[in-house]
Amino acid sequence: MHDSEALSRKERQRLTGYEYSASAFNIYLGLDSRFDPERYGIGNWNIWYYPTGDLNREYQKQLAGDFSRPWIFLSCPTMKTQEPGIGPRGHHVLEIATICPYEPFESLHKHDPKAYKAKKREVYQQIMTSVRDLIPDVDNYARMKLYGTPTTSEFYLGQPQGNIYGAKLVPKQVGLDRLGYTTELPNLFLVGASACYPSVPGVIGNGMDVVEMLTGQAVRQRQEAPKPLVAAG
Ligand SMILES: Cc1cc2nc3c(=O)[nH]c(=O)nc-3n(C[C@H](O)[C@H](O)[C@H](O)COP(=O)(O)OP(=O)(O)OC[C@H]3O[C@@H](n4cnc5c(N)ncnc54)[C@H](O)[C@@H]3O)c2cc1C
Repeated sequence: MHDSEALSRKERQRLTGYEYSASAFNIYLGLDSRFDPERYGIGNWNIWYYPTGDLNREYQKQLAGDFSRPWIFLSCPTMKTQEPGIGPRGHHVLEIATICPYEPFESLHKHDPKAYKAKKREVYQQIMTSVRDLIPDVDNYARMKLYGTPTTSEFYLGQPQGNIYGAKLVPKQVGLDRLGYTTELPNLFLVGASACYPSVPGVIGNGMDVVEMLTGQAVRQRQEAPKPLVAAG
């Protein structure tokens, strides 16, 4: 069946006509065995570092393409689990990300590959200045450096416009105006970030909601209520 026959024009517009959330520039660093995250206050949590503390201005500045001393999200996945496979034993990995506009990279990628690569290296260096605020000697330990622009995420991960959180979380696209789980096709359900809540726990929850909706059975395990404390004596 051709697409245009399967979906009404209105449904097609609803499923494709929304605005995506912003994109990100991502860096992954593989560090040698001398790097001790705890020395820098890095543990089983995420760090959001805003150099000026003026969040609105920092977002606006970066979305306008100014990456001088950007804010960063920094996390150390190897501090979050003992499971093998995230990094070589005894070594740590750092994940660093910040907001980044899609269009400038998209245009350079399409029209001027050399300038695209130069811009990518430049933004990497600018982000690393903020990383050095938190880990001044990070360069002494970095053995592997991988970084990606919005078009990298679009190409390798299939994220349209390199979006981070699916459909943008603006009033006209949240609550009852979110895409939701069901579509006009009785056997097509949505569970990704644009369907309802974005984020990792968000999309897991979306999947569980849809399973419950389809089977009529609860899949979430109930937490036992804490036992009341009984006063001694
Ligand atoms: C840098 C970054 C950091 C983040 N950090 C956090 C965090 O710390 N905590 C958190 O909760 N959330 C975080 N998020 C958000 C979270 O990752 C997303 O909200 C979540 O992964 C969305 O899940 P999804 O299933 O909708 O999409 P994805 O996780 O993108 O899954 C879609 C999958 O579909 C595949 N795919 C795409 N096109 C096709 C195709 N044509 N055929 C077959 N397969 C295809 C893709 O390869 C991908 O595996 C982060 C996002 C980014 C970009």
